[in-house]
Amino acid sequence: MNQENEWNVDSWKKYPIQQQPVYQDEHLYQETVQKLKKLPGILSFDEINNFKNEMIKVSKGEKFILQLGDCAEMYTECTEEHWKEKFSFYDSMGQILNAIVIGRTCGQFAKPRTQLHEKDGTLNYRGDLINSLSRDDRDPDPLRLLLGAHYSKKGIDALRKYKGQQIWVSHECLHLGYESTFVKLHEDNQYYLSNTHFPWIGDRTRLYEHAHCNFIKGIYNPIGVKIGWTINKSEFVNVIKLLNPKNEDGRVFAIIRLGKNKLDKLKDIINWKNDEKLNVSFFLDPMHGNGLEKNGHKIRRIEDIMFEIQHFFNILEQNNEQPAGIHLECTPYDVSECIENDEEINPKMYTTACDPRLNFRQARKIIVFVNTLLKK
Ligand code: PEP
Ligand code: MN
Repeated sequence: MNQENEWNVDSWKKYPIQQQPVYQDEHLYQETVQKLKKLPGILSFDEINNFKNEMIKVSKGEKFILQLGDCAEMYTECTEEHWKEKFSFYDSMGQILNAIVIGRTCGQFAKPRTQLHEKDGTLNYRGDLINSLSRDDRDPDPLRLLLGAHYSKKGIDALRKYKGQQIWVSHECLHLGYESTFVKLHEDNQYYLSNTHFPWIGDRTRLYEHAHCNFIKGIYNPIGVKIGWTINKSEFVNVIKLLNPKNEDGRVFAIIRLGKNKLDKLKDIINWKNDEKLNVSFFLDPMHGNGLEKNGHKIRRIEDIMFEIQHFFNILEQNNEQPAGIHLECTPYDVSECIENDEEINPKMYTTACDPRLNFRQARKIIVFVNTLLKK
């Protein structure tokens, strides 16, 4: 590799980048980033290596992943009490499947948005890391980054005291100025992303010649990449090769989110994998391809989610592929955001900061269904 192409913690800055906030006070932003860089790492190298060993088992088909949690975590829910309820819910859902559990938690604070503005021109909410859900406070505020780091650390500390089985943590690696401050060099000469076990790259930022992929490729943690229906062969093959150049076990996981009507594309994706002999395993995210709108609310139908899950298992079986995991947006609380039998949404119980989540009954129903498919 020549000097030009060598990876370092800032080399992503040379590439085109999507979905980054623009701060009015650039000086304050730079000052904040410098402060974050001086903080010690959150997870230890050993904790990330232990996770990596588990993911090697997953890529060999020996274990199954349940990845679950909020679409967007809110700072107001970063309390011991909320974490306790959420972790115990994730744990009990994992037990149904005897799965390795990964929470969308302890850092799932930044959201990619298709539209920068709402219909009335208000800036869109982009996650508590960037701006406020409150409509009169939408300017990106660099000081929110310090809170993100603080709550990630607090949440991970809470998790370490937690008595159930090991829960690993994940979030979308979106705000690269922020994420890159958590990179730590270990004596094994590898760079670890210390604020999460499992960072993933979203469907909107997965282009292999763009910044997000060229940041994450240098990180030693196992990584996820969301795969939506617009993907073509060259994008898929190039992103997987970029992220896993040595074709190692436990390195890269494709999180399929095609939606129930486009899931047939998974057959092509499996062929691309086989043509190029790529070492990549498949999770299913049956949420993000099945979004609908009802009376001004974003919703998802349980029937669509279950249909996509069933179809995913069928396609993998027909192609001699092992399902590696399932990825759900859900909450232990009694919300009304996803619907079944065309029921109405109760607006008082619609509390998500972003996408509609399964409530605990809906999550349990879907996970029990996944269990029957895994047992077949
Ligand atoms: C998400 O997981 O909340 C998300 C935004 O996903 P995607 O990148 O698949 O749209
Ligand atoms: Mn979401």
